[in-house]
Amino acid sequence: MKLVLLGSGGYFPNRRRHTACLMIPEIGVVLDAGTAAYQIQDHLQTESLDLFLTHAHLDHVFGLTCLLNLYNGDGAQHIRVHGQAEKLEVIRRCLFNELLFPVAPPFRSVPLASHFDLPEGGRLTWFPLEHPGGSVGYRLDWPGANRPGHSLAYVTDTTARPDAPYLKHIQGVDLLVHEAYFNDDQHEMAELTGHSCVTAVAQNAAAAGAKRLVMVHMNPMCEADEPLDLTKAESIFPGLVVAEDGMTLEF
Ligand SMILES: [Zn+2]
Ligand SMILES: [Zn+2]
Repeated sequence: MKLVLLGSGGYFPNRRRHTACLMIPEIGVVLDAGTAAYQIQDHLQTESLDLFLTHAHLDHVFGLTCLLNLYNGDGAQHIRVHGQAEKLEVIRRCLFNELLFPVAPPFRSVPLASHFDLPEGGRLTWFPLEHPGGSVGYRLDWPGANRPGHSLAYVTDTTARPDAPYLKHIQGVDLLVHEAYFNDDQHEMAELTGHSCVTAVAQNAAAAGAKRLVMVHMNPMCEADEPLDLTKAESIFPGLVVAEDGMTLEF
């Protein structure tokens, strides 16, 4: 299965990265609707789309206002946006207030149930993350009957700590996509803003036994080729990858 990182940055778009939007085109699943969400149309392979929001901060939901572009053509697209009920309510009431956006939301809102059945025998589950206002992480598993299973976890907008409760939900995951907003010298800002420092992310990925680690949601104020100092993190989790927009990962 292919995961496309349409938007790999955090907070606001810069010249290198749009904000959070991940897509698995062959099953019509999208994780977060940041500023990259206008690109969903370029990868669409399915009749319907299930879009799962981690939370309602603007860098994760702005792109909901771009989904009208999916209505061009035959108008037969069915778009469901899943998230915590209170976040969906705020999005409807505020982001789609007619003074901000004059058209009704081009999707159906679906409060998160305990799990969601995915095509090809998969299952999506979610778990809470510590962040101002709260965020949720997602795990997608396809247990293989006669072959090794494959799995993906998406953890963004939270602080990686050795005792983080989310660790038990990402154990043994094949592909971990985890935010890494700050370098290690900004750990106080990370705590304050509910984000993660790069080495702590590598430590948590290793502690969880993740097989691969991709870092997203980097600080947009850094537009350098290497937005993170990976010196320590790479020794803890060799082969880790810092995401770029448009990157496609097989899992
Ligand atoms: Zn964010
Ligand atoms: Zn946030």
